Amino acid sequence: MDVNEREGTAPGLASRGNRIMLHESRPLPETAKCTRCRKRAVIALPSHHANFCEECFVFFFRRAVLRAMKKFPVKADETILVAVSGGKDSLAAWAVLQDLGYRTKGVHLNLGIPGFSEASEEAVAAFAGKRNLPWVGYSIEAVFGYSIPDIRRRVRRPICSVCGMIKRQLLNRVTIREGLRVIATGHNLDDEAGRLLGNLVRNRRDYIEKQSPYLPSAHPRLPEKIKPLYRVSADEIRTYCRVRGIAYLEGACPLSRGATSHMFKDALDMLEGKMPGTKRDFLFAYLDARPAPKAVEDFGTCEQCGEPCYGTRCSVCTLLDRLREAPGREKRRDASIPPE
Ligand code: SF4
Ligand SMILES: [Zn+2]
Ligand SMILES: [Zn+2]
Repeated sequence: MDVNEREGTAPGLASRGNRIMLHESRPLPETAKCTRCRKRAVIALPSHHANFCEECFVFFFRRAVLRAMKKFPVKADETILVAVSGGKDSLAAWAVLQDLGYRTKGVHLNLGIPGFSEASEEAVAAFAGKRNLPWVGYSIEAVFGYSIPDIRRRVRRPICSVCGMIKRQLLNRVTIREGLRVIATGHNLDDEAGRLLGNLVRNRRDYIEKQSPYLPSAHPRLPEKIKPLYRVSADEIRTYCRVRGIAYLEGACPLSRGATSHMFKDALDMLEGKMPGTKRDFLFAYLDARPAPKAVEDFGTCEQCGEPCYGTRCSVCTLLDRLREAPGREKRRDASIPPE
């Protein structure tokens, strides 16, 4: 599709702006020329010392994703499961993979967060409908017996770490259930650089060693994981969505308030504002210097649910046992994926 053809906007979703400008950059003068084709430039990318017209920006963006994809051992004819939340990152990842010719299937997890989860599913359905893409949806409550707000009321741990753990396991299970081998997520350059900074500040060696845009499988029930957007920033993704008319859910998850990961991203944004290109240099210097990630060898199998884990019981089973012991309503005893 030509970049000037737009997809429609679903009700309640992000509206498209005609003015394409990254928030950290000044409006470009009318005389600004596209770095690639020398036509009028409307998009400034200070971190690349480049200005682009819309068409060349789309070319630049897709090339960055293709560069990432070439580093992952994905077969040309295999279907990639794309985890989609309805936000800009996951929808952009899905869109670019489709535009680059990859076979894809979306998967959306409904977390049961009133208002937010419905809007998120609506954004996914609208996007998939417009592009004629297949997708499946699962409800955390239907699978595990508890919604994320239910769990938040019953555990003391920060909800994002529990939610992340549950989503990871369910996405692994869905990938295997769908008969697929590879799952893609929408993590971008800002996410990865912020995470690296956080892990370095806290000296979390284990996490640092495992941080990679590609993770091989370490267990027959674990898919390979790829992050096709790790080379593009959140601002570039926002611009891509506007140029391509991708309608995404703009609001953040209402439970995300206070997450410390935001602070590390803010710190990097401050450095990026003063020294464009810092985020990329920081992340890529680390990734280029480290050896390719190896599959973790000490994975076991949970004796309760059969999923991969360290030791003999997975953290999801441990959590569910604890939730069942906590006072409150009775919930499902198993955690099987219900039949479609
Ligand atoms: S912000 Fe936290 S609670 Fe909300 S979806 Fe993300 S991990 Fe889950
Ligand atoms: Zn151009
Ligand atoms: Zn288990």
